[in-house]
Order: sequence, then C-alpha cells, then structure tokens
Amino acid sequence: MARYIGPVCRLCRREGEKLYLKGERCFTPKCAIEKRNQPPGQHGASRTFRKKVSDYGVQLREKQKARRIYGVLERQFRRYYADATRRSGVTGAVLLQYLESRLDNVVYRLGFASSRKQARQLVDHGHFTVNGRKVTVPSYLVKPGDKIAVAEGSRKSAYFAELDKGLKSARTPGWLTVDPRQLSGNVMSLPTREQIDTPVKEQLIIEFYSR
Ligand code: SF4
Repeated sequence: MARYIGPVCRLCRREGEKLYLKGERCFTPKCAIEKRNQPPGQHGASRTFRKKVSDYGVQLREKQKARRIYGVLERQFRRYYADATRRSGVTGAVLLQYLESRLDNVVYRLGFASSRKQARQLVDHGHFTVNGRKVTVPSYLVKPGDKIAVAEGSRKSAYFAELDKGLKSARTPGWLTVDPRQLSGNVMSLPTREQIDTPVKEQLIIEFYSR
C-alpha cells in the first residue's frame, strides 16, 4: 500500500507545529521544530511572515495535518470521509473514529510502538495478530471486542522482550485495555470524541470536503 516516504520532520515544519511523527526524538532538542520552525523549502522563511490565510487555506491545512498525523494518503482519507458521511452520528467524530480504528494507530495507542510510523512498520512485518490471526495490513479497522496481540514468533525478539516495562507505564486511552504480560490489548469500544486527544479541528476538515 502506498505511503509517504519523504522526510518526516518536513511535514511538521510545513504545518508549523509538532505532529509527533518520530517517537522519542520528538521530545528532545533534536526536534526540527525546536531547532528551526519555518516552512520547508528555499522560500520557507519568507512564507513564515505571510499574514492572511483564506478560509480554504485554513481548512486545507487542518485536513493535511490530520492526514499526516495518521499517515494516511489523500485517496484513503477521502474514502474515510465518504464512509463517515454515510454513517449515523456527527461526521467529524465518525471520521476520527475511522482513523483511530486503524490497526497501526491501535498498536501505537497500546504502547507497542513509539510512533504510528513505527507501528505501521511492525504491522507490515507481521508482528501482530487480531483475534489470533496474523494481520499485515496497517489500515485494517479494528472493532469492539477485538484482541490485538504480538505474534507468537515475535515475542522472543529483543524489541518485544524489552517492551513489557514500557507498556506498564504507557497511558492507554479508555477505549483500549492492555495486558503487558501477555503482550496483548483489547478494544473495549470505539472511541468517543472526548477520548481522542489528536489536536485537530475535524469541523474544518468536513467544511473542506463539503465545499
Ligand atoms: Fe515533528 Fe517529531 Fe520531527 Fe519534531 S522530531 S519535527 S515533532 S517528527
């Protein structure tokens, strides 16, 4: 499946804020936003001072920000939006629910990876099972009642052997539970809007697509 493979910090600099795409590094002074918070490119510095942004520009930036946080390309993001409009409930909240239900996001939220990018790679490489079956598709959508676990053959790897300590201190959102000893987690329900701490204004994204 297609994915963005360019420099990741560039995406944060384009949005002008930390999107926490690189795990631990994002909390250190090495973070590109800490060192040089200006849009990327030759004329990036001059763009910093551009004042007026149209409504369209604001909506576009919010949509791009959400896409980048969850590591989703435009076509798939638009599909999530289309599906969200067909479901009952507030479209923006349903859209976020779709994004949060992705297996790579759930692996990240459970604390098995320090970023969604790393989670995506771990899923890609077959390190996780859902209800006992290996799933290698990062966009797989989990459902309430699903059990996500580290695959049997991966448990002895140095990475997962060390992980159990980190999992105990991880802050798991209320809609998930994690069992550090079993290296597994359960989806208790789909997240409500209040349980999603992603800093996006979903209403602007809906306005962008319904222009
Ligand atoms: Fe963004 Fe993290 Fe890179 Fe900082 S280190 S610019 S937060 S991806």
